[in-house]
Amino acid sequence: MRPLRLKILLLAALLAGAGLGSGRLASRAWVSVTEYRSPYRFTTETPAGVERDWRLLLVVVDGLRLDASRRMPGLNRFRAIGADLVASASVPSYSRPARATLMTGAPPEIHGATTNRHRTPVTLDNLFRGLERTQGDVVVVGSELWRQLFGADLERARFRASPPEEGRGAFDHALAELAAFEWEGAGLLLEGRPRIGVLDLVGPDFAAHEHGAGSPQYARACALADRTIQRLFDAADLWRTLVVVTADHGHLDQGGHGGAEDEVLRVPLVLAGRGVRAPIRGAARQTDVAPTVAALLGLPIPAGSDGRVLEEVLDYEGDAEFEASVTQRAAAQRASFRRELAASLGVPEADPDDARAERQRRDQRVRLPIGLVAGLAAVAVVTLAFRGQAGAAVPAALGGALLYETAFRLLTQRGGLRLSLSGINHEQDVRPYFEHVLGLSAASALAVLCLVVFAASRRRRGAAEAALLGLAAACGTQLYLLLRVLVVYWAQGLSMTWTAGSMTRGFDAVLDLGRMQVLGLAALVVPPVAWFFARVAPRRLAAALFLLWAPLAAGGAVHGKLPDTPDPKARWIIYLHGRIVELEGRAASHPEFGRFAFDGIVEALAGRGFELVAALRPASTSFEYSARVAGQVRKLKAAGVPSARITVAGFSKGGALARRASAQIADPEVRFVILAACPRKPENLEPWVSKMTGRMLSLYDASDEMVGSCQPAFDKAPGVKGEELVLRVGQRHGTFFEPRPEWIDPLVAFATR
Ligand SMILES: [Zn+2]
Repeated sequence: MRPLRLKILLLAALLAGAGLGSGRLASRAWVSVTEYRSPYRFTTETPAGVERDWRLLLVVVDGLRLDASRRMPGLNRFRAIGADLVASASVPSYSRPARATLMTGAPPEIHGATTNRHRTPVTLDNLFRGLERTQGDVVVVGSELWRQLFGADLERARFRASPPEEGRGAFDHALAELAAFEWEGAGLLLEGRPRIGVLDLVGPDFAAHEHGAGSPQYARACALADRTIQRLFDAADLWRTLVVVTADHGHLDQGGHGGAEDEVLRVPLVLAGRGVRAPIRGAARQTDVAPTVAALLGLPIPAGSDGRVLEEVLDYEGDAEFEASVTQRAAAQRASFRRELAASLGVPEADPDDARAERQRRDQRVRLPIGLVAGLAAVAVVTLAFRGQAGAAVPAALGGALLYETAFRLLTQRGGLRLSLSGINHEQDVRPYFEHVLGLSAASALAVLCLVVFAASRRRRGAAEAALLGLAAACGTQLYLLLRVLVVYWAQGLSMTWTAGSMTRGFDAVLDLGRMQVLGLAALVVPPVAWFFARVAPRRLAAALFLLWAPLAAGGAVHGKLPDTPDPKARWIIYLHGRIVELEGRAASHPEFGRFAFDGIVEALAGRGFELVAALRPASTSFEYSARVAGQVRKLKAAGVPSARITVAGFSKGGALARRASAQIADPEVRFVILAACPRKPENLEPWVSKMTGRMLSLYDASDEMVGSCQPAFDKAPGVKGEELVLRVGQRHGTFFEPRPEWIDPLVAFATR
């Protein structure tokens, strides 16, 4: 059987090699977006229009969703006297690219800013530069992004940067400070009356990242932003000012943007004031803002603008000369754009969409044979490898691919993982996100491959034959993923060179390539596993298989996972860690509070005689996770554990999950220990708070500026028997980063009472 062994080794090596190659392609594809360099050149100087002393006041409400914007009375007043449009944002739908789009009229593929990490300034013609050419002052009140993007064009501008950096935990302590800053900024713009005034209102974005766009915190942040908008409505000189209120992007219910979901891409665009016909409704694109504003203010229409002048919105007030000038300038810019776009793409001059289609067709003609050869070669190699064994290999390959994909989809769904750019809710989540996806892919692949090998060994095949069938399953899965990748490759290429194409498909391809890498490496375990199964008795085989599968199925590392038959006589604690562990794992460390002693806390509690369930949650776990906690409690109860012996203890985000789980468990005897997890302001309490049920102990440190008392929450929930202890450790939120007796002791006493 020597040739068979050789074949197995070769196949395993081939799969692993293909995997490594895919991994490289995946990171290349990803980097082609994050380090994108625009190939477009637009150098024509577009003509300025009739000089007018009209002003622009641009308000960018960061992360404002269309539906939420309709619930803002201040903004609705602008809507009532102006144009109420629904604009589609460009992809990738991030803050920095969108701001560049608003000022240049170009989508990210043209202006070149594709992510918030990009540091290269925009060189493209823009409204600020147009104003330089025609003279006029600029005041920007808002995000540093403006200066990073348009540094050279903003040299003479007055700039006031928003106070805090966006990031983890930013919302809860920064909202008030931000709102005050923005209120003051609005005053500055109203008094200063610059030709171009820009105001960022960033509270909604903070709130959505932290709590989701479905949260009361988000609604509150929108209301605060709306107060400032209302002030502008009351005080702006609308006879001389064009007010534009829009958003850079929306947000998912659970928070997150970047992808192409409707709630992320559809944003409000409200224009009101001088030069706007009213009332008017309609649709537009984010790219239309710059040319429309330029047309109205008499500025040159930015040369790289891909949008159109929204002529249906303009009120020429019977000024035929003005109207003619707008039409003429718009036509001139369109003509030069058409020419330079075609030149940049290396295709004959045509309408922009046709030029892009032509370039895509040309690229596809090059990619088609490459893709075909790659696909056919892979199929040929696999066919050759399993020649003569098709009877067993084909079902193994098909079944393996099907099982793997089903397992992967189930695990991602259960883990609350969204397979989209919007699924990465924070900048810091990029790595953990990919690790999570690849981890689940590895879990699915290992489980399925082992299952196939196991099934093959049960049919009294030798180790070598079982291994071969395991590899057939791996090949089938690899081919399936390759096919998906090749379709995207043919359609739009794997790397972003001149267009983002469909971000959804592109992101899928990156993930698929990453999954191919993991699968290739997982295939390496097939030969040893086959050997192992062939030499152990079947019953122990089943046990071994279960041991492999069980921890993997849980979706990541598990500490003290809930056993299948929990001990009904024990006291149980389900411990839920803070968000930082989601982001950085077991070894999480905070710049101010130091290391989060996850293991130390779990061991300290276990050492006090409890059975502990303490799973590590993946990055950006949604609040739906509380349902899983509720399920664990039900399982304990079903196993005969009395409710009074079950305690759910959670810190920070874990505490919020525990509170939410209490509403779902709805058992007055189950205990909950809420560690620093109630909002400082009662108005930020979640809508389900009144449904909370159980005996609750709240602990938080008096020095903690991020959280407050749970008493208001207890007061709202008739099903809660609550008590609270305010600690004086003085370590703020970090008080609960270590197993200190100050909080461990009362927790233990409460749980054993
Ligand atoms: Zn944003």
